Amino acid sequence: MLSISNISYKYQKYAVLKDVSFELQKGDYCAIIGPNGSGKTTLLNIISGALKKQEGNIQISGKKMEDYQVKDLAKQISVVPQRSEPVYHFSVFDMVMFGRHPYQTRWNYYNPEDEDIVIDALKKTNLLSLKDRMTSQLSGGEFQRTLIARAIAQQAPLMLLDEPLANLDIPHQFEILEILSDLNRAKQITIAMVIHDLALAMQAIPKSLLLKNGQLMYFGTTSKICENALIYKLFDLDESYIVNEFGNVRKRMTSTTSDKRDK
Ligand code: ADP
Ligand code: MG
Repeated sequence: MLSISNISYKYQKYAVLKDVSFELQKGDYCAIIGPNGSGKTTLLNIISGALKKQEGNIQISGKKMEDYQVKDLAKQISVVPQRSEPVYHFSVFDMVMFGRHPYQTRWNYYNPEDEDIVIDALKKTNLLSLKDRMTSQLSGGEFQRTLIARAIAQQAPLMLLDEPLANLDIPHQFEILEILSDLNRAKQITIAMVIHDLALAMQAIPKSLLLKNGQLMYFGTTSKICENALIYKLFDLDESYIVNEFGNVRKRMTSTTSDKRDK
């Protein structure tokens, strides 16, 4: 589905990705984990074509990335971006219909089939009752689901998500994870998503890619990431941290408020 070989990337002289290679097969579901600034967003932006790649090769569905027309690439890859884009005066329905953009020409706006696909995406993300709501009037979780619905409507075999769980409470995080697991299982959609919560990744996402300083540190099953001190190395954690086998992290705090109160 996706083959990344020897990708390196620099912003001016500053190298943010260094010789990254990995492959995702159809139906893979992969977490991308790493410290802030390790190059996760840059990597997704290069795969989606939002950033022009500098070194290395990318193949998508067996074809070189640069051999795709922009619209054909959008039929292969859908993106749920990290920072929520500015909320214009669009309804939820309109926003999700943007996912049909690669299938539309300047002369035909959407047809009944597009509409069916959008309604189906709204159902999958529990947004049908909100379809006429303005996107400026959504909660964080609803807006995040709208972006996912738009990606679903795009019907691409590969979906890239950048921190889709950020700012969501626990039930809403699981709601998104369940929507994604369903898509992955039922439709064999290949998913790569940036996630910070190790315990959630351990629970819901079978594969993981660990990125540190722009270098691939590990690529394999998520169940192994808490072995061999990998997480300690990834985040430069000292012995005051304890990472358990489920990915829960604790730290011996030197001066918590309760300590202060005791003194
Ligand atoms: P992550 O998503 O893992 O937090 P990013 O890919 O956003 O990391 O950024 C990787 C590094 O590249 C960071 O040090 C960041 O400051 C830098 N960076 C990101 N975007 C730009 C840019 N447009 N120009 C210069 N440096 C950038
Ligand atoms: Mg990022």
